[in-house]
Amino acid sequence: MTADLGMSLADWMKMTPAMSHSIDSRGVLVAVSDSWLRKLGYERREVLGKRSTDFMPERSRERVRLEKIPLLFQTGRVENVEFQMICKDGSPIDVLLSAVLVRQGEDHVSISSFTDITQLRAMEQKLAESEAKYRYLVEYQSEMVSLAKVDGELLFVNRAYAEHHATTPEEMIGRSLYDFVPTQIRGELAQHMQHVAIVGEAKDIENQVLSPDGKPRWVSWTNKAFKDEDGIVTAIHSVGKHVDARVDAETKLRESEERYRLLAENSTDMVFQLDAGRAFTYVSPAGPDILGHALEDLDGRCLYDLVHPQDAEPIRAILCALASGELKRHGGVHRFLHRDGHPVWVEMQVKALGLSQIGSETGIVGTLRDFSVHKRLEERLRDANLLLAEAAATDGLTGLMNRRAIDQAFQEAFEVAKAQGQELGLILTDVDYFKAYNDHYGHSAGDECLKTVSAILRSVAESCGYHAARYGGEEFCIILPGASENTTFLAAERMRLAMQAMSEAHAGSPSGFVSISLGLATLSQSGVRDRSDLLNAADRALYRAKASGRNTVVRASYCEIEAEREPRVVPNKSLRLSRVG
Ligand code: GH3
Ligand code: MG
Ligand code: MG
Repeated sequence: MTADLGMSLADWMKMTPAMSHSIDSRGVLVAVSDSWLRKLGYERREVLGKRSTDFMPERSRERVRLEKIPLLFQTGRVENVEFQMICKDGSPIDVLLSAVLVRQGEDHVSISSFTDITQLRAMEQKLAESEAKYRYLVEYQSEMVSLAKVDGELLFVNRAYAEHHATTPEEMIGRSLYDFVPTQIRGELAQHMQHVAIVGEAKDIENQVLSPDGKPRWVSWTNKAFKDEDGIVTAIHSVGKHVDARVDAETKLRESEERYRLLAENSTDMVFQLDAGRAFTYVSPAGPDILGHALEDLDGRCLYDLVHPQDAEPIRAILCALASGELKRHGGVHRFLHRDGHPVWVEMQVKALGLSQIGSETGIVGTLRDFSVHKRLEERLRDANLLLAEAAATDGLTGLMNRRAIDQAFQEAFEVAKAQGQELGLILTDVDYFKAYNDHYGHSAGDECLKTVSAILRSVAESCGYHAARYGGEEFCIILPGASENTTFLAAERMRLAMQAMSEAHAGSPSGFVSISLGLATLSQSGVRDRSDLLNAADRALYRAKASGRNTVVRASYCEIEAEREPRVVPNKSLRLSRVG
């Protein structure tokens, strides 16, 4: 089929806005349109007389030369022939060509019109790549992907889905998805799918699916309705992932929680948990036994409401230190308040939650153990210890302070007096002719006599606010903190007189009654530099009292202190009496 153009071909080509050219039967270009030249980047003179196939790449050239041009000249037309052309700058363009033949004198030439489909092809290429990419993603992703009709018939499954069932996607397609879940959950799953189909939105469900090994596995699914252009649900798209590990962990956690709850519920300790505001979020059943409040009254209650006021601050500091991580755990004995108001001693163990896992404190867990019994035992033990300490400091026969205790008391009193520039008096006393008393009345009577002497010394000393001690044998000692020499002398004289007033018979004594001799010294007496000076001075004074006939009081003199210091061979600071008696 041919057509007659009716105007010069060259004119028509210059006029047409289309991309167009004309070739003769040899394939030589006889005319080209402006648009053709612009598209390929040539001048008209550069192309006329050349073959149209000269502007094609190798792979298009042969097909067009050997197939399409002969076809055109045989049949008079070709349509939609797709090939590539090469621009002057070397870049290819995709074109679609339709051509008809027209008579030109004796000969025929073509009028070919082009459509540039470069962008279309590029788009198609991209689309194909993108499809391939997404298909690859779906095919090879580790999650299970399926497309099923609402009644469950599988239209598509990816590899992961098929592999889970140890089969191929081809084997599964056409089967029902319900074949792959345990029978007992099929009804529930069908309901879920219906719901997804009706609501149309994505819905999540966790259910078990069968496995080739017969052991069902937990899978979490997101199911979404797939609609056609009319909005009709045609399929359900599902994406699932295995969650066995998580479900197992959750089950283990639940079981562990139940186990510990069982322990807490049966413990006689009050197990508790506090939130960040220190309100109880859990209290075990022992709580009411220990604190007297009902469980429902404890729930949500602030811990500090139940703490004894005097223990509130220390406990607050402990909980702060736990919260900051400064303290890892704490165990200690504290006072809480019983509902009826009396203090309850408890042993509290507490630890912060969350620090090791998330780095900040999310609460406190702890236990309270009733410590009242221990506390009572502790108090008894303390009383017993006090008694023991007292016994260790007391002379068994007379009940006065013993030598160990008076040495200690003397040391302390001396240091205080020295430091504060105060007076300190010391009296040493010894029963006169006591050996003879024992000899005459017997040792037991001697003991009784010592008790009598002790009672008198104690009564006089205590009436003045001082303490008497048995220094050893029939020797006694009285320390008088703050007492001047005169006060000390008066106290000693009162003791001597009181003893004399007893008139306790003593056949072995020239006087016929039990008497005592006393020596005294005071810190302010010149020459006293240390404790042994004071002791030795009092001892020398006692010696003089004995020597001067007994039943008398003698004050230490400066000479005695100095005389005592000269030999200074006894380093022991405790008293060494070295005289008669
Ligand atoms: P002087 O007047 O010089 O002090 O003579 P004295 O006989 O009291 O002194 P001496 O040191 O010779 O004797 C003290 C006696 O005290 C000897 C000892 O048996 C007796 N004595 C010491 N402790 C006890 C005691 O606990 N019970 C009894 N019954 N006698 C004791
Ligand atoms: Mg004596
Ligand atoms: Mg003696």
